[in-house]
Amino acid sequence: MTGFLDPYLKDDERAVLDRARGFGQRVMRPNADHWERGMSVIEGMHAAAHEGLLRLEVPHSLGGLGHRYLLKLAMTEALSRIDMAFTFAMINTQNVAARLSYSKTRAHLETLVPALTRGDLFGATALSEPNAGSDFAGIKTSATKVDGGWVLNGEKGWITNATIADLFITYVQTDPSAGWRGIACFLVDGRKAGFTRVAPYDIFGGRAIGVGGFKLDNYFAGEDDLLAPAGEAFKLAMQGVNGARVYVAAMCAGLLAASLETAVDYGAERQAFGKALIKHQGLAWSLSDVATDLTALRALTRDAGLLIDAQKDAVMAAAQAKSFSGRVSVAGVTACIQAMGAAGLRTEHGLGRHLSAAKIAAFTDGSSEMMSERIAAGLTASFGSTRS
Ligand SMILES: Cc1cc2nc3c(=O)[nH]c(=O)nc-3n(C[C@H](O)[C@H](O)[C@H](O)COP(=O)(O)OP(=O)(O)OC[C@H]3O[C@@H](n4cnc5c(N)ncnc54)[C@H](O)[C@@H]3O)c2cc1C
Repeated sequence: MTGFLDPYLKDDERAVLDRARGFGQRVMRPNADHWERGMSVIEGMHAAAHEGLLRLEVPHSLGGLGHRYLLKLAMTEALSRIDMAFTFAMINTQNVAARLSYSKTRAHLETLVPALTRGDLFGATALSEPNAGSDFAGIKTSATKVDGGWVLNGEKGWITNATIADLFITYVQTDPSAGWRGIACFLVDGRKAGFTRVAPYDIFGGRAIGVGGFKLDNYFAGEDDLLAPAGEAFKLAMQGVNGARVYVAAMCAGLLAASLETAVDYGAERQAFGKALIKHQGLAWSLSDVATDLTALRALTRDAGLLIDAQKDAVMAAAQAKSFSGRVSVAGVTACIQAMGAAGLRTEHGLGRHLSAAKIAAFTDGSSEMMSERIAAGLTASFGSTRS
């Protein structure tokens, strides 16, 4: 199997991607339905660590593979053909290892990054709160300066890996009157006093994502755990979110490709009214539209990914890829299920998992509506000034 990003990869990157694909077939495929029903992902995560998939972007100097963004994009697409939820959880803990590699604190670099890459610890990133999602600047979890550090109070919600993570990159407000400028970023250690995990959220699909939250009650964070001070943290989060939006689009491309392949294979076998289902024009046209949307999604995702890899401005391209991915993946997977008749509902085909995952993707790292807001702001900047 080749992916749409394979031609852009170097030989060593393709070798890693092949290894990831092997992991997908060996570990993810037999377990995806079990994870969906609530089985723990921890064994799968350990297997991913063993394959080196939790150290993809960590620099060589810290024991990582030091790969570029495009490989991560190709890998998330390939693995989401099997199971987007596990892929998303895996990439989120990988992201924490990569982010901590930039820390100035020795203990983070010497102890925590290696533990994350080995799968001894897991990571999560916490911006959202039960009462603040799209409105990130409106978060209420507070940090108050005290001697030698900070005291954190509040609750984070809707956090990927919240059920298994030990380390949380956590955004907090240091000065409510300062809005986004008051937001700082800390490393929160879930093994320390003042941290309580809340019960996992019971959602209708994507359970491998392990979504949930945690409370901080007079949690003490030392100065060493301040990853980005007020004034910088919000901007850094916004820069990082472009990469996340594009890999979410790549994940949608992966799950849509898998759904289409399943529906076409089924339609070629299944007979109705004396011929294969796929030979009926109405059905074939519906799947043709899915194929066209998939091609367009791949093009938007690839272009945005190349911009990110080249460290160019990818704000509009990332928002467009993610916005389009939400629209076409939910509609496309639904069309594939419809084309298979009742058989499309059977768990063995995986389309129910893909549909839940496509819906989840329309919220993570900024909802579809927030993507429209972003694109609209870009439109004004591009065209608004040309009129008198
Ligand atoms: C499975 C899953 C995993 C997640 N993982 C993480 C994670 O690891 N870390 C993290 O920090 N967050 C995570 N999130 C949270 C995610 O980022 C939020 O769900 C997202 O930002 C939307 O926020 P909300 O759900 O609170 O919706 P709200 O902000 O309450 O919005 C509700 C609806 O209103 C729309 N809306 C809001 N404002 C506007 C507006 N101005 N104009 C038009 N429409 C608007 C939204 O698009 C949405 O459709 C996760 C979410 C899910 C579902």
